[in-house]
Amino acid sequence: MSNWWIFLAIAGFVIFLLSVRLKQPNQKKPVTRKNHNRVASMKNSSGMREALQREVEVSGLAKELESRPLSPKLPKHIAVELRKLAITTLWNGRRAESIASEIMKNHEVLISKNDLNVIAGSEIFQASFAHNAARAKRVGSKYYIWRTSKDAAVCQACAKKQGKRYSWDKRPRNGGYPGEGQCCPSGLCRCTAAAVIPDEFGV
Ligand SMILES: [Zn+2]
Ligand SMILES: [Zn+2]
Repeated sequence: MSNWWIFLAIAGFVIFLLSVRLKQPNQKKPVTRKNHNRVASMKNSSGMREALQREVEVSGLAKELESRPLSPKLPKHIAVELRKLAITTLWNGRRAESIASEIMKNHEVLISKNDLNVIAGSEIFQASFAHNAARAKRVGSKYYIWRTSKDAAVCQACAKKQGKRYSWDKRPRNGGYPGEGQCCPSGLCRCTAAAVIPDEFGV
C-alpha cells in the first residue's frame, strides 16, 4: 500500500513539472549559433520562399539548366523529374537524400540509393550555382572569384584556383564550376563563387 503512495507522489510531481514547462512556451529561446539559421529561416520563410519561387520562375533558370547534360545513369524522364525537384530545393531547403528518397518511392530505379544521393546532390548544386550566376549576371557581373574553404581538406587542384577570376559562362575545363569537382579527399568540393560586381572593381 505504501508503494502506491510513493508512486502517486512521484507521478504527481512529474505532472507538476510538465505543467510548469508547458506554461512557458512564450518565453523566448536564446538564439544560439546552432538554432540561429532556423530562427532566421522561420522569420523569413513564407515571404522569402514566395519571392525566391517567383525569382526562379522569371529568371528562366529551368531553361538555363536544360542546356546542361542530364545524368546518364537515369532514364531521361526520371532525370528530368529529379532536376525539377532539385530546383525546388532553392526555396524549400530539402536535402539531396530527401529528394532521392522521393524519386525512389515513385520510380523503379536501378542504381543504389547512394549513387542516387550523389546525383541528387550534384543537381542541387547545379541549380544553386545557376541561380547565383543568374542573380549576379542580372546586376552586370561577368566573373566570379574562386573561393576554397582554405583548410587541410582542400585538394591541390582546388587550391590552385583560390582567388582566381573565372567567367560565369565558361565552365572551367579542369573539374568544372566551384563545388562540382570530385577531386577533394572527401569526394566533395566545398568551393564557392564570389561574384565580381562591376561597380566595385570596374570590370
Ligand atoms: Zn578539390
Ligand atoms: Zn573545391
